[in-house]
Amino acid sequence: MKQIYLDHAATTPLDKRVLEKMLPYFCENYGNANSQHGYGREAQKAVDEARDTIAKLIGAKPSEIYFTSGGTESDNWVLRGVANAYKDKGNHIIISKIEHAAMLTTAKELEKEGFEFSYIGVDEEGFIDLEELKREIRPTTVLISCMFANNEIGTVEPIAEIVKIAKEKGILVHSDAVQAMGAIDINVAELGVDMLSFSAHKFNGPKGIGALYLKNGIPVSRLISGGHQERTRRGGTTNVPAVVGFAEALRLTKQTLKEDNEYVSSLRNRFVERVLAEIPKVKLNGASDMSKRLPSNADFSFEYIEGESILFSLDMDGIAVSSGSACSSGSLEPSHVLMAIGLSEERAHGTIRFSFGKENTVEEVDYVVDTLKNTIQRLREMSPLFNA
Ligand code: PLP
Repeated sequence: MKQIYLDHAATTPLDKRVLEKMLPYFCENYGNANSQHGYGREAQKAVDEARDTIAKLIGAKPSEIYFTSGGTESDNWVLRGVANAYKDKGNHIIISKIEHAAMLTTAKELEKEGFEFSYIGVDEEGFIDLEELKREIRPTTVLISCMFANNEIGTVEPIAEIVKIAKEKGILVHSDAVQAMGAIDINVAELGVDMLSFSAHKFNGPKGIGALYLKNGIPVSRLISGGHQERTRRGGTTNVPAVVGFAEALRLTKQTLKEDNEYVSSLRNRFVERVLAEIPKVKLNGASDMSKRLPSNADFSFEYIEGESILFSLDMDGIAVSSGSACSSGSLEPSHVLMAIGLSEERAHGTIRFSFGKENTVEEVDYVVDTLKNTIQRLREMSPLFNA
């Protein structure tokens, strides 16, 4: 059976050119980047080059790039690191209600340790409420953090405006750009953020490697103590092949960003137009202005049916989608993002995220719409809600 992968927001296939770059660092140049012999120097050289490449591509200095195990660790580090380092200055942090679990769960844990959080709401398309954000700022606020683009509904947040608000008050600002990095040409210096999280596996790089951009001079406490790796700010033997693959994936992504975005959004737009025209009682969640949503994202709520039933039925037809964010699937709770944009629990439960990638084709889009139409009709015919 033909397999169609429409879950690129969860993860993306590794680019074979990235794999090629990584391979020598497994069995040949396998040195520990901290060792002082030739093997070590070879590994260190590869890590330095990767750091330089990544820094240049995002407008940072190499000394501002810290390798981590991915977006989750970078997000944890930001919250815990700022909370600890700045506790004499203030104990209040502002984040949005639609952050990834990596932020929200850490925030809840920090609340138990005595730190205070404000959770800023969003409108029905998922855009953060900037007026509420301004109102929540206190003399004790040490950090404002808002994700660059949402992983479920694809809405791209007004980060430049958030940075402006934070800077006017002298408050640190962070953005979780895990979803955005592969689709938006981010330049941290121009943007003015102090910290930015990103992760290689969302743009055809390897899993388990990411980075925190941390502007020079910001005294964030470390999350992982250990050896002298990452200028003693993040212990642990450097994953050299992953670091090399990370840099190559970002380089290739940036090289063809415009063409790839145009292609992926044309597939997504065709899909959205056909679904809205051919399937009744369906709502597109997220930004209605397509230029303010990730090019890959289409998130639909289908009335009267459960997202899980749609997901499993499509899976049996070889189509991979998500019924929420990859990380919250498996939970029966309706998604916090869909609740924040004001969907009812029923609608939230009937939601499916389709996220496209550059290896998808127009034929696949048409096949998925045709299959989806039949799936929705069949499930609705079986649904007591639909027949009520
Ligand atoms: N932040 C966002 C917005 C994400 O979408 C994800 C992953 O889905 C993460 C953080 C976690 O990143 P990682 O999988 O690299 O830990």
